[in-house]
Amino acid sequence: MNDNDLKKTGNGQEPQKALNFLEAIIEEDIRNAKNEGRVHTRFPPEPNGYLHIGHAKSICLNFGLAEKYNGRCNLRFDDTNPTKEEEEYVQSIMEDVRWLGFDWEDRLFYASDYFGQLYEWALKMIREGKAYVDDQSADLISEQRGVPTRPGTESPFRKRSAEENMDLFLRMKNGEFPDGTRVLRAKIDMASPNMHMRDPVLYRIMHAKHHRTGSKWCIYPMYDYAHGQSDYLEGITHSICTLEFEIHRPLYEWFLDNIIDTDYRPRQYEFARLNLSYTVMSKRKLLELVSGGYVKGWSDPRMPTISGLRRRGYTPESIRMFAERVGVAKRENVIDVGLLEFCVREDLNKKAPRIFAVLDPVKVVITNYPEGKTEDLDLDVNPEDPEAGSRKVPFTREIFIERDDFMENPPAKFFRLGPGREVRLKGAYIIKCEDFIRDEQGNITEIRCTYDPETRSGSGSERKVKGTLHWVSVPHALDAEVRLYDRLFKTEEPDIAEEGKDYKDNLNPDSLTVVNGKIEPGVKGATPYEKFQFQRLGYFCVDPDTTGNKLVFNRTVTLRETWSKISGK
Ligand code: ATP
Ligand code: MG
Repeated sequence: MNDNDLKKTGNGQEPQKALNFLEAIIEEDIRNAKNEGRVHTRFPPEPNGYLHIGHAKSICLNFGLAEKYNGRCNLRFDDTNPTKEEEEYVQSIMEDVRWLGFDWEDRLFYASDYFGQLYEWALKMIREGKAYVDDQSADLISEQRGVPTRPGTESPFRKRSAEENMDLFLRMKNGEFPDGTRVLRAKIDMASPNMHMRDPVLYRIMHAKHHRTGSKWCIYPMYDYAHGQSDYLEGITHSICTLEFEIHRPLYEWFLDNIIDTDYRPRQYEFARLNLSYTVMSKRKLLELVSGGYVKGWSDPRMPTISGLRRRGYTPESIRMFAERVGVAKRENVIDVGLLEFCVREDLNKKAPRIFAVLDPVKVVITNYPEGKTEDLDLDVNPEDPEAGSRKVPFTREIFIERDDFMENPPAKFFRLGPGREVRLKGAYIIKCEDFIRDEQGNITEIRCTYDPETRSGSGSERKVKGTLHWVSVPHALDAEVRLYDRLFKTEEPDIAEEGKDYKDNLNPDSLTVVNGKIEPGVKGATPYEKFQFQRLGYFCVDPDTTGNKLVFNRTVTLRETWSKISGK
């Protein structure tokens, strides 16, 4: 969130968002009728894991720019590495992009769609003396690359004739050589200060089955050799990626300049990747958390994956709002995870029906309330949404309240229940604590109160007290398993670890607490992903583990403020 982004418009009225640097570039390109004014972006995930909130940022950016400028955005799987990629990931990525509310229409592509074309271009480069087969090991090749301040060493195979290269490359393709024995390299410049220009590898031998091309190929293009050409083949105009690819840009341009003879080029622009406090974002690390059993799968509600956030109770709107507020930066920074939580609160505050849930229940008996009587009280479904109407909540002689809403010896500022004190039960009556009962261990098992029948909410009663509590009728309460999440990591920058340790040592051992709650009966029949505000406690979402006879909730986020402390109604 950056207030500097908000500038007054000419008439000084409505604040209008200033253009981010990509929007400024695109508007300039449109003005100049570059690419006939077309705007065509793409989101290019590698299907080697589930998408995370950083990808969500990139999705919102690429699809969002296309939407804003009447352009198009492709979904393209960068599937050049068969050993790490899986169909499960492809499916999850498509689900996540759709769930965020974006549509690639008929523009679903795979880098593997271009394997044939990329191969043809490799042959062209060999014929023109711009690529050669190197028989050295990967280690040796990387050693010879040298360091940025000193030129690398040329491979002894660099001067091979085009005929010999052609022959060897065909035999690589035909499966004559084992993995790792040869590579095809571009012949560029072993002295370039840009290490990526020092004869980069184009193809490696991998006798591996590809999720789409099966065993058709045993040589696979490197990501760098495929990426820019894929953009070219799809007619991408603005090829947006994260900063670490800035240094790859000259290589992408070199490839196109050496194989394409028309003028059109996709232009690459880099922005800073999203980093979030208390979060790790690399897919490699997320995979490790999953496979090491540190979390329960990619969609564990503690994970920063889109599917984890969905299960946690985040809405697509809240994530899009977050992406918008984060903006587009050119320099690396770390965004406070609190901003993400702020966005989901904002959204759910408007949408989530309110209910009563007691997560650490203690029983209250209202001794002067008739036994067996039930009153169906009217409460707002959502005071933020006038359309939402009201709900019926049963009130009886025995209710649950939160254990910490009672104190035996409360301090002066404690406006909740204590011996001789009064509180209002939200939407019901004022009650007064007359007595309480302990078990042998000293735990309070029952609080005994009286109620004032003249104080029913909505009856016009004048009497006010400072505290207001939520409650659930004992005979009507539904039982639910409630999973309370805290941050997955206990340090703000979990990637930074002490010597000899790693990010896993920064995991928060208390990131999940499971309690058994008592819930208002109106939630009966709620289905997975339905969201509620448990009044005074936070936003909660029905977990897919819910079955016909077991309700499971995930806490999405706590509330920042509660009416119990500020209102006496
Ligand atoms: P990771 O580093 O988390 O493994 P990646 O960059 O390897 O991610 P890709 O599947 O290659 O993952 O990414 C697809 C697109 O998402 C790329 O354009 C990439 O730049 C973008 N992206 C990935 N991580 C972030 C992030 N943290 N913030 C913004 N964009 C991101
Ligand atoms: Mg990547």
